[in-house]
Amino acid sequence: MNYYVMTLFPEMIEQGMNTSIIGRAMAKGLISLETVNIRDFSVTGNGRIDDYPYGGGAGMVMQPEPVYRAYESLVSRIGSRPRLIYLTPQGRVFDQSMAEELAKEENLIFLCGHYEGIDERVLEEIATDYVSIGDYVLTGGELPSMVMMDSISRMVPGVLSNQESGQYESFQDGLLEYPHYSRPELWHEKQAPPVLLSGHHGNVDRWRRNQSILRTLRRRPELLQNGEYDKKDRKFIQSLLHDEYEEKITEEEKRILAKLLAI
Ligand code: SAM
Repeated sequence: MNYYVMTLFPEMIEQGMNTSIIGRAMAKGLISLETVNIRDFSVTGNGRIDDYPYGGGAGMVMQPEPVYRAYESLVSRIGSRPRLIYLTPQGRVFDQSMAEELAKEENLIFLCGHYEGIDERVLEEIATDYVSIGDYVLTGGELPSMVMMDSISRMVPGVLSNQESGQYESFQDGLLEYPHYSRPELWHEKQAPPVLLSGHHGNVDRWRRNQSILRTLRRRPELLQNGEYDKKDRKFIQSLLHDEYEEKITEEEKRILAKLLAI
């Protein structure tokens, strides 16, 4: 996977991506990262790349020509025109399935905006995807591009070691992951769930699946409808509805589960 990031702050990207799992993947050659400083393509020759917005209003706008020149110089070096993702709060919201889809690409270009954003005309010519990392506004596209590269890189074969690549992660089957426990068995008078120490793999798997359903119900109930539920899941949901499980749920949570069983 080759990442190319068009930005006004290349050092931010390079420093942010150079550590831990992603840094190691770059050292191994599994992913590569090249930054392009849009300022180097200023048309005024003094590094200026922004101007006042037509129509007035607060803030500055990144001009089209420096962005276009930076892009043309990049794609002529790459030798193709990969997908170009413009990071914007107005884009489709990034999620795990988008990370999985983008991880199949060989090259990806990220375009980071600043100030009020980028002149619309150049976006119309070069952007293939408009992506947001959430419904809030940041000062620039650098952090969003790093969030995306981090998540996409985890899907690139070889980036995660066997130990790091959980067989199950949140969102993999539409639900949140179960809770984790490690040594010591007893901490602050809290006992790790005995089933996890039982060595009985079937029971451990069942407990984790139940916890995954329960956790999703409590923290992100709107996700439950994305899941698929087999006979054993349904039996567990019935036990929650009838207060037969060790952990109890609220009346509102029961209403959500009852609806789910009716689907
Ligand atoms: N005026 C723009 C608007 O209201 O949509 C916001 C501009 S923002 C201050 C500056 C830059 O930060 C954007 O061009 C974009 O690249 C980036 N940015 C800010 N919030 C973002 C988000 N939630 N997701 C992705 N990029 C974001």
